[in-house]
Amino acid sequence: MKNQLCPVCEKPSVYLSNLDRAFHVDGSENMSCWAEVLRAAAEGASRSQLRFDLLEFTKQIRGVESCKRRIITALQEKEGEWVSGSVLRRRISSKYRDHFYYAINDLLKADVIKFQPAERNGLPGRRFKIQTLP
Ligand SMILES: [Zn+2]
Repeated sequence: MKNQLCPVCEKPSVYLSNLDRAFHVDGSENMSCWAEVLRAAAEGASRSQLRFDLLEFTKQIRGVESCKRRIITALQEKEGEWVSGSVLRRRISSKYRDHFYYAINDLLKADVIKFQPAERNGLPGRRFKIQTLP
């Protein structure tokens, strides 16, 4: 999986352009990391020193949003049915597949979709369903 790493602690991170701030993907506090990035940038550290690429971050977050829309469309077509993660993943064009994991997690957190553990060929997996209004 392609991750953007926090230039300070190297945890997977995303940059949210609407907030103009990077966040750790796991949700852990990164204010001190972000402050360090800004301080280093203010002191003129080069991009390679920071290992920080705003453009790459922005591309990443856009890819996640596109992937989320595709997952929703695919699940809406199968409304009321459970769709296995592997089937769903294959429905997403390769261009966005790198973002599948983050997109799924965002949608679960936002309560747009729900999941059940599912076994497939003896391997643990998940299957997904679009949330319908009660
Ligand atoms: Zn960090």
